[in-house]
Amino acid sequence: MTKFQTFLILLILGILFASPTYADDLFQFDEGFDQSALDLYERSLQLAERYPNLIAFEPLGMSTDQRPIYVLRVSENINSHNRYAYTDKMHIMISAGLHARETYNPFVTLRLIEDYAKDYYAEDTLNFVNMKDILSKTVIHVIPLSNPDGFDIVKFGPDAIKDKSLKSFFEKEVRGDYTRLKANVNGVDLNRNFENYTLNRDTMTFKTDEGIKDRYAIVRKNPALDFYGGPYPGSEIETQILQDYYLSYDFRVYLSYHSMGRVIYRGSTHYSQSIAKLTLDYRDLACEITHYKIPFETNQSAWGYESGFVLYNTNKPLITIETTPTVEFPTPSKYYKSEYNRFKLNELPIAFIEKAHQIGYFDYKLYKDGVYVRDFVDLDYAKAIATQIGGEILIYEGPPRYDQALRSDVSNIINSYRSIFKINSFFIK
Ligand SMILES: [Zn+2]
Repeated sequence: MTKFQTFLILLILGILFASPTYADDLFQFDEGFDQSALDLYERSLQLAERYPNLIAFEPLGMSTDQRPIYVLRVSENINSHNRYAYTDKMHIMISAGLHARETYNPFVTLRLIEDYAKDYYAEDTLNFVNMKDILSKTVIHVIPLSNPDGFDIVKFGPDAIKDKSLKSFFEKEVRGDYTRLKANVNGVDLNRNFENYTLNRDTMTFKTDEGIKDRYAIVRKNPALDFYGGPYPGSEIETQILQDYYLSYDFRVYLSYHSMGRVIYRGSTHYSQSIAKLTLDYRDLACEITHYKIPFETNQSAWGYESGFVLYNTNKPLITIETTPTVEFPTPSKYYKSEYNRFKLNELPIAFIEKAHQIGYFDYKLYKDGVYVRDFVDLDYAKAIATQIGGEILIYEGPPRYDQALRSDVSNIINSYRSIFKINSFFIK
């Protein structure tokens, strides 16, 4: 074959397989390292504009130093006002950027949903998934940057702090090498700031942190680069936004992205045998896909973890994915592409979604005032929550029956859906 014939064949193939997607990715591996919180925010808006049938953008609030915190929801017909855009689908929660210095993951979570959107229109983009099938029955929720103030401080220094009094507080009280910062601009480690409740299985009542002996195991008493839990549980606006969103949908599983040396944490599972088993199943699947390792685990645990909040409130697993080696911060640019490809980071959420569909819903379903709230893997736990909120447990197999509950006169289906799933004024005050 001559060079010209080869050229012609490639040209014809190119025309035949041309896709409606764009040539340039919005989230480019070689640009990620330099991007600010505002850059990621603007790109996220563009991503939602580029794929209006697949991606919905919602602002959730502003951080302490007034940077937007937002969610992207990915599913087929996501912006349609038909309630089936949300109900009859399974929901999975992905979050990143809780710890300031772990700067790689906000980029990663955005890049992976861009890959998913591309594959939806051009099926040869990803070879491990049928994205049309996945997105017809699943909603993927992504909060890419939970601690945007800390993210910018680690990348650009304390001069990035916009508010003068916050800046002088940070420089005086938090101190130290700001590239090691895990906390937010107030010096509060958000992964020690979550509201924490445990179930006393003898009395079947919930108790707060007071009952936990090792509250200060890895928690400092003053603002610092890391491990300070804040003046009280849920004191930080960033934590409040996450807590609120985590209870707003009937999520099957939560994935939280951190960067502490290529391991997968399963979070505390002392709660019940059934939730422990479920959590371990997801953890093992994550290890199988990524080849990240299982870390050394101790019984000691601090207070105020995100995983604890999710476990206690929803009785569903939260799996923590620790990407990249813990050496330099902010995460060096050399990892952006290699880590993504080598450890199959875009395959992991798909594997979790497939597993969630395979498992299906649990039999113990909580209703309050005739409205479905969520299902539980553990009956004792379901009963305890039901008692707490004045609800009841209905036991039946298969997906939840919530048709009765949806009001037909609501124009904003999203808010209606969320108010149904939220356990009002229980843990969130
Ligand atoms: Zn972390």
